[in-house]
Amino acid sequence: MADRPVRVRFAPSPTGPLHIGGVRTALYNYLFAKKHNGTFILRIEDTDQNRFVPGAEEYIASALEWLGISATEGVVNGGPHAPYRQSERKLMYHEFAQRLVDSGNAYYAFDTTEELEAMRKRLEAAKVAAPQYNAISRSSMKNSLTLSEDETKKKLEAGEPYVIRIKIPRNEEVRFHDIIRGWVVVHTSSLDDKVLFKSDGMPTYHLANVVDDYLMNISHVIRGEEWLPSAPLHVLLYRYLNWESVMPQFAHLPLLLRPDGNGKLSKRDGDRLGFPVFPLDWQDPATGEKSSGYRERGYFPDAVVNLLALLGWHPGNNQELFTKEELIEAFSLEKVNKSGAKFDPDKAKWFNQQYLRKASNADLATMFEKEISSHIGKDTLSLKGESKEWGRGNYVEGVCHLIKEKAHFVNEFWSIGSFFFIAPDTYDEAVIQKRWNPTTKDFFGKLNSELSGDIEFTHTNIEALFKKTAEANGVAPGSVMQLFRVLITGMAAGPALFETIELLGKDEVVKRISTALEKLK
Ligand code: GLU
Repeated sequence: MADRPVRVRFAPSPTGPLHIGGVRTALYNYLFAKKHNGTFILRIEDTDQNRFVPGAEEYIASALEWLGISATEGVVNGGPHAPYRQSERKLMYHEFAQRLVDSGNAYYAFDTTEELEAMRKRLEAAKVAAPQYNAISRSSMKNSLTLSEDETKKKLEAGEPYVIRIKIPRNEEVRFHDIIRGWVVVHTSSLDDKVLFKSDGMPTYHLANVVDDYLMNISHVIRGEEWLPSAPLHVLLYRYLNWESVMPQFAHLPLLLRPDGNGKLSKRDGDRLGFPVFPLDWQDPATGEKSSGYRERGYFPDAVVNLLALLGWHPGNNQELFTKEELIEAFSLEKVNKSGAKFDPDKAKWFNQQYLRKASNADLATMFEKEISSHIGKDTLSLKGESKEWGRGNYVEGVCHLIKEKAHFVNEFWSIGSFFFIAPDTYDEAVIQKRWNPTTKDFFGKLNSELSGDIEFTHTNIEALFKKTAEANGVAPGSVMQLFRVLITGMAAGPALFETIELLGKDEVVKRISTALEKLK
């Protein structure tokens, strides 16, 4: 086992957009594969055609790509086990279902929907807690265990619809080891005879999943907790197909819980509670219903990777910010928690803020420029020219440098800092009411003539001049500081004031104060 190459797979069913719980599963598979120089495979489990949603597979691949956690083998890139879409592999599964029938571990069942319904009612009337097709009830149903060999043969030859069901033993214990949960023991009396193969020629999830994991040499099955109840059945399939010696190791990940810890985080919760639960925007092709995604909300992909990594896994110390390389280095399945991980929307924003602060001003400027030009057009920007003082390239980079301390997302930059591009035409009411009077008006008149004088326009010089002028006029600098900001930006709060003034430049600042002095009575 120890020297078995690590091969893991993310195996979503294309039934809709990928929930962030699914993204986390993909991420843990990715990190585990990278850590062990293994292979990460993307397999699409689309045997249930009734639940197929157009566009879902493309969505899944784009989401992984956006996050930088794409699989190297699978539906997108192909590989030695192609095809990786189960609907395209459908001819491969019957042989294995047949093997199970031949070895006595599975059987044909011919019951109609009505007969199944009648059984359910009968068991309910007899107060059976969980009515199911199992080791007891199968003896009164229409299957190859109750019919004679001849009758079964005739039905098959006549093309009567059938399914193949696993024959779960009546009284056994199934034990298996889960890397996260330790030993799991399940009694077969709680399992039902699941359908493995349908008469439409398609396997069910369980058979296709186990067969493909075997054929694709999967070493570890890392998946959500909702699949834990299926694991004993899968273990029995490995046993009955004589594959137990190469059975993958299981790791069932904890659930993602709602922010209040009250239940599983569902697809519906996101927009209801005001945060995305999907990586990318999604529009349901059938209903037209839209759901928002992290990408469109303005999250950095690395921030999403970082926050999801910590939802269920703990590094063993207090570190919270991890590059992808650091995650790969630190990740281990042994450090994944058993209990559910509460999703915290504020913490998600906090992560993005940390990445925003770390981002280079040049990169932020590239992102922000798109938005600026949607408001004011491209040309206006070049009028601002270079701001050499910042030593950070151009004006927009200087703006980003100042604004990023105040924002969680680049898409908040415009509302925080539009005044860097458009002079204010209104002024914060409350501050004006409180502070604007003949004395302060007089002070700003004087300050403006000082500012327009011979001064090297750096924030330290501006601040010193502001204080000096205030003192010389008997005004407490603290009482006019916010007013200064309002005259320049229109707003009561914002980025570092003297740096903002320096970046705007002398001409623009003097002009803005003059305008304010004229406009405000
Ligand atoms: N197709 C299953 C899903 O949609 C895969 C479960 C597994 O990883 O075994 O999640």
